[in-house]
Amino acid sequence: MPDTDTIAWVDLRSDTVTKPTAAMRQAMFDAEVGDDVWGEDPTVRQLEQTLANMTGMEAGLFMPSGTQSNLVALLSHCGRGDEYIVGQQAHTYRYEGGGAAALGGIQPQPLPMTAAGALDLDEVLAAIKPDDCHFARTRLLCLENTVHGQVLPLQYLAQARALVDSNNLQLHLDGARVFNAAVALQCPVADITRHFDTVSICLSKGLGAPVGSVLLGPADFIEQARRWRKVCGGGLRQSGLLAAAGLHALEHHVERLADDHRRANELAQRLTNAGYTLAMPQTNIIFIKVDGLDRERLAQWLEQHRIKADCLGRDSVRLVTHLDIDDAGLERAAQAFESFMTEEHRT
Ligand SMILES: *Cc1c(COP(=O)(O)O)cnc(C)c1O
Repeated sequence: MPDTDTIAWVDLRSDTVTKPTAAMRQAMFDAEVGDDVWGEDPTVRQLEQTLANMTGMEAGLFMPSGTQSNLVALLSHCGRGDEYIVGQQAHTYRYEGGGAAALGGIQPQPLPMTAAGALDLDEVLAAIKPDDCHFARTRLLCLENTVHGQVLPLQYLAQARALVDSNNLQLHLDGARVFNAAVALQCPVADITRHFDTVSICLSKGLGAPVGSVLLGPADFIEQARRWRKVCGGGLRQSGLLAAAGLHALEHHVERLADDHRRANELAQRLTNAGYTLAMPQTNIIFIKVDGLDRERLAQWLEQHRIKADCLGRDSVRLVTHLDIDDAGLERAAQAFESFMTEEHRT
């Protein structure tokens, strides 16, 4: 094996690990800025307006993180003693520190998710509480798309919309990776977002910006959200520096998500051929089943080959393709996984 210290890491842990490209840094350097708490940053405004146009929403609000964006959405939709219905493995329930309950007095009503990442709409309907003082007031249904790398069908979104409309609920999308869903479906992102009242989109995942999310929705909702963002400490000043990275990403890094999907597909095919068990990815995320896999040894083996993967952190091994994984990096990763299998079977 060559001297490993000189070989760059191939980091497949997450699409959050991307570093801003030279062109993105230049766009940040050149950004016109102002005090955004006073509404005076032209670049932030341009980012918010651009995403509002792309998603067919009235207004947008630049946020420091996706977690804060979802939290502010929940705080704006729900008050104390209100409830949101959400998937048991959804980010807005499981991975955001219980923020809605801790900070908003908002009760989550988690429901099991189908293998496809959806909520069974009959179960959602059954979970809506009657108008009775025994119960929390059910206000909101939260979906995620992509959800664990899977794309929710447009037909399902239309059914969810019909359900919330006939039950006087609002519908929020945790669209951290909604552009991956749109690219996979080969449709405008608005075909997905039009079913929702509000949407949160991450710029710092596959889109490759260093920081930032945008919350989108009706203008009056966004004005309320602006207040909650300030309360949460998310009122930033000359944040046009960051918004410029987001604008650059929207212009240059959306269509190329198809490359990430192609590479994830190629890697999944190689892994399957090598004897790993997995479902073919719909977008940029691969989950390898761990039955019969010595994860500790796999993690060590990958590290020796300068490959980073999320081997131990969850109930499967997760691999994510992104802007900083090129064909050469993918080839190195595929070979390391293949040689691990060959080694395992030799011993
Ligand atoms: C990453 C992510 C978020 C928000 O993440 P931050 O790290 O706070 O920006 C929200 N939902 C999903 C599904 C995510 O993957």
